[in-house]
Amino acid sequence: MKIYIMGIESTAHTFGCGIVTSNGEILSNVKSEYMPPSGGIHPREASQHHSQKALSVIKKALEEAKISLYDIDGVAISLGPGLGPCLRTGATIARAIALLINKPLIPVNHCVAHIEIGRLITKEEDPLVVYVSGGNTIISAFSDGRYRVFGETLDIALGNCLDVFARHLGLPHPGVPKLEALADKGKNFIFLPYIVKGQDVSYSGLLTTAIKYIGKYDSCDLSMSLLETAYGMLAEVTERALAHTEKTSLLLTGGVARSLRLQRILKSVCEEHSARFHVVPPELAGDNGAMIAWTGYLAYKENITIPIESSFIKQRWRLDEVEIPWRMRY
Ligand code: AMP
Ligand code: MG
Repeated sequence: MKIYIMGIESTAHTFGCGIVTSNGEILSNVKSEYMPPSGGIHPREASQHHSQKALSVIKKALEEAKISLYDIDGVAISLGPGLGPCLRTGATIARAIALLINKPLIPVNHCVAHIEIGRLITKEEDPLVVYVSGGNTIISAFSDGRYRVFGETLDIALGNCLDVFARHLGLPHPGVPKLEALADKGKNFIFLPYIVKGQDVSYSGLLTTAIKYIGKYDSCDLSMSLLETAYGMLAEVTERALAHTEKTSLLLTGGVARSLRLQRILKSVCEEHSARFHVVPPELAGDNGAMIAWTGYLAYKENITIPIESSFIKQRWRLDEVEIPWRMRY
């Protein structure tokens, strides 16, 4: 019998609803992204966007999937990590739907979902994962029942670092593609703080210095140098993780996975190690409901559900805290 799972995503700027089946078909994946008129994402304003858009996004997801709400067998909710007000809005909606249709609520970790949708789409069983977005920078591989962290940012995320710099140059959101266009015209490399500590990276000092140099150096040179430095740091720790874990493939995901420059660099790292290189397609690489639904299905199969009364959000829910019983056979 086919099982239908609905997934709700609302950890940051995106409100998404996706519907998948137990066969791994993505029946729909609808989202609405909050775009701040200026500056960064204000959690309360993003959460207001989510509550305003939720109904239309969910309706459209059901229409596209050509099923009724009552065909759904479980409601998966991304309980964290993320911004408190945004998480609360999504969780409230998911709880209400689960209660209405009297079906289980399934807790999903947002970072696990980025990995699972990549595994589904690329058919790679056991890749090393590089997850880079506005809020996360994580290198992870499966080992001993969990997705272990083999490198992460010690402060701000890669996407956030680049977006803040882009804003200081007066470029609108999303900043990374605009910076990349400037970087393509850069000629002179400017030395910027390259901070790698063990397997971790630190982007905040790099950002502060790059901002300080605005006006002193050419914007194209500065953009090129910032991207090369930031991506180079990531490539260094990725390469060590690949060598250490001996994984034979690499999966690049998250919003910044769309960067062609980053793809080029990581592809060359893979070639050095004879590893296969994959990038998750953009609509599934950025935050979305389908990845929550699919991970929800994997959890549902293992009877992982959560009572409404204890379905608290977890703003700082780490990837490596989550047990992954559906992969225990490794
Ligand atoms: P996410 O948090 O997963 O939605 O990712 C958002 C990040 O992706 C932001 O830092 C954006 O600047 C970045 N981004 C958006 N479009 C692109 C693109 N075409 N190439 C590279 N990065 C992008
Ligand atoms: Mg994300």
